[in-house]
Parts: sequence; C-alpha cells; structure tokens
Amino acid sequence: MGKIQMTTPLVEMDGDEMTRILWKMIKDELLLPFIDLKTEYYDLGLEHRNETDDKVTTESAEATLKYGVAVKCATITPNAARMTEYNLKEMWKSPNGTIRAILDGTVFRTPIIVKGIEPCVKNWEKPITLARHAYGDVYKNVEIKVPGAGKAELVYTAEDGTETRETIHTFTGPGIIQGVHNTEKSITSFAKSCFNYALDTRQDLWFATKDTISKKYDHTFKDIFQEIYDAEYKEKFEAAGIEYFYTLIDDAVARIMKAKGGFIWACKNYDGDVMSDMVSSAFGSLAMMTSVLVSPSGVFEYEAAHGTVQRHYYKHLKGEETSTNSVATIFAWTGALRKRGELDQIPDLMEFADKLEKATIATIESGRMTKDLALITSLQDVTVLNSQEFIAEIRKTLEAM
Ligand code: NAP
Ligand code: MG
Repeated sequence: MGKIQMTTPLVEMDGDEMTRILWKMIKDELLLPFIDLKTEYYDLGLEHRNETDDKVTTESAEATLKYGVAVKCATITPNAARMTEYNLKEMWKSPNGTIRAILDGTVFRTPIIVKGIEPCVKNWEKPITLARHAYGDVYKNVEIKVPGAGKAELVYTAEDGTETRETIHTFTGPGIIQGVHNTEKSITSFAKSCFNYALDTRQDLWFATKDTISKKYDHTFKDIFQEIYDAEYKEKFEAAGIEYFYTLIDDAVARIMKAKGGFIWACKNYDGDVMSDMVSSAFGSLAMMTSVLVSPSGVFEYEAAHGTVQRHYYKHLKGEETSTNSVATIFAWTGALRKRGELDQIPDLMEFADKLEKATIATIESGRMTKDLALITSLQDVTVLNSQEFIAEIRKTLEAM
C-alpha cells in the first residue's frame, strides 16, 4: 500500500525536553511509515529560539496564518533558572503568548476520554471543552491600596477632553480598589472563535457571565455574543443542529455538574482560569488534555495542554527509563492532520487521523499504558510501559486495524 499523500504542508513547531523526544518517536513510528508527511518545519526548541533572537517563533506563527494549520510541541518558557541552563541572550517571552498575539486566538482545551480513566463527576460521559477568553479583566488590572478616608472615582477622559465620572466609594477608613478593562475588539474575536469552533466540532456552545450584577461590564460580553450570534451564526447553528446557550455563571456551574458533557463552555478570563483547572483535573490527567488555538479568521494550531515534562527529561538524560504519556501530543498531530485533510479534501488523511486516535485509545483500554495512567486507572491487569514501548504498542494496534 502506498503512503497517504498530502497537498498543503502542516506548520510543524518542534519544542523542548521530553516532549521533543516524544515528538520524534511519534513521527518515526506512527506518522512517517503511513503518510508522505509534508511539513514546513520550525524549530522552537529554546536553543534555536535563542540563536534566532526568537524570530523563529514569529515566523512559525506567520506561516500558520499563511497555511492555516499548525501542530506544536511543548516549549520551555524561560525563567531565571533557564537563563543560566541555556545561556540565553534574553529571557525570551512565552512562545504560546507570542503565537497567540499574532493569531489573535482563543484556546480550547478538551480531555481525551478512555474507559478505565473515569471522571470524578460520574455523569460526565463526553468531554467538556473549555474556551477561555485570554485578554483583560483582572489579568490587566490596576489596583490601589487605599490608606484612609477619601473618595475613589472612576474617570474616563475622551480624546476631546470630555470626562465621565462615577464614584466608586467614599471611604471612611482604609480599603482597596481595582480597575479592570476589556475591549469590544477582543470580546468580538473571542465570540467568533467560539462560534466557529462550535460549528467546526458540531457541539453546543455555553457562555456565562454575572450580567445580573455587572450590568455594564459583564452585560457587554453577553450582548456582543448575542449580537454576533443573531447576525452571523444563528442560521448556521440551526443548520448544524447545535445550540448557543447563555446563562448566569452560577447556573452554568450547577448545570455542568449535572450534565453529560459533549459541549463547549466559553468562560471569561478568570472563570476560564479557575474552571479549566477544575474540569481538567476532574477528567483525570493533564497528560490526556488536548489544546487548540483557533483564530477568529479560522486558523488552527494544535498542541498538548501539558508542558515539556522536565523531570522525565532529566531522567532520560541520565540514561534512566521514562514512562511519559504521549497521548496528548499524538492527538495534537491527529487534530492537525484531520483539519488539513478536511481543508484539502483528503479523506484518507482524515481517516488515518481517526484510526490513530482509535488505536491510541484501544491500546490504553486493553491495559497497556504509561505510569501516570496506571496510577489512576480502574482497569485490572495493567501493563506499565516506558515511553518508547507505549508508542510501539500503539503502532501494533494501528497496524492490526
Ligand atoms: P509539565 O511539563 O506539564 O509537567 C508537570 C508534571 O506533570 C510532570 O513532572 C509529570 O509529573 C506530569 N506530566 C505532565 N505531562 C505528562 C506526560 N505527558 N506524561 C506523564 N506525566 C506528565 O509542567 P512543568 O514541569 O511545570 O513545566 C516544564 C516546562 O514546560 C516549563 O519550562 C514550562 O515553561 C513548560 N510549559 C510549556 C507549555 C506549553 O508549551 N504549552 C505548557 C506548560 C508548561 P511527575 O513528575 O509526577 O511524573
Ligand atoms: Mg489556572
């Protein structure tokens, strides 16, 4: 049988540490034997980012805008310790931050469900995808610790000098105040990314804020979502048989706990920060969480939600065996390949992505898994595999299929 042919290259963003090791294993064992893989390769490994003054990160994001689909390996975000470890010229910014700023996207995180790794919430049968707005609110706040009695005001000065004022509070003693903001442009991008992703994955979209209390701030989020939905998406949603659903954040939280899953939950920045950690840990493991950045213009970048698994890499460097879970990285590749297949109308490529995912899940469900899953599985007779063996077992399952 000939290998599957591709027409447009995927933007391939290589990364760091243990995930870089897994990256090569996945390509060699699970992709190259079956696909005539076409990629435009960008090495986002920290050494090469440093050599190129981080230009490679910008170039990889620009290539993503050009081609439409990227797959990214986890990368180190430098801190003080990394400065000395890698002898860096500068403390380069987070690659994900740089890429997100160029693509202007929203990140969607979805757990991979397998039998034997049960969510803590027993009625969650299908994945819940979390979409977090990644701009503004408390993450771009301005705060004052009020020392004593006095009046705090909110002042907006228009370009022509006109002022609008609101009294926040008249203090009779010490206290605190905070100013937060968001922009219509950012909320609009967020809304469009969410509507596009819901259509793309044919799932209902939930969105919730506290608009009953925050009658201007949160209400603006609600209004922008509703206006865009009515104007641009209502008919498409109806045709796809999916629903857009707005409710109060407290109601959403209560309903999530009773729901079966299988939908997207869009959250404001803070709600998304807190709720994504809750939802992902309730589903089982960070190593089983995929992540995709979707731009409002419909560009996709797929990756694993976890980092470079530094502790395992240091063991690997010492020649010790590692049992690192490659599932989320495999699913980053399958997500990107499927999307490429869809855009270029290559059914074989889409089918291959489906099969590789099925083979990965079937391998785990047959009791062959890495240590992180073995520790939390409800399956009996489990075989704990090392990083390489696990990928080799997936290949066997895939070939048998
Ligand atoms: P991490 O790489 O996510 O790993 C934290 C711990 O979680 C690991 O030590 C391991 O636990 C467990 N784990 C995560 N992924 C696993 C996998 N695939 N298989 C098995 N166990 C897994 O986070 P970190 O160690 O805090 O960060 C390392 C580097 O990653 C940092 O430099 C950070 O900047 C970077 N990072 C990158 C991204 C990204 O590119 N998207 C995201 C987050 C962090 P045990 O040690 O207990 O086995
Ligand atoms: Mg958090």
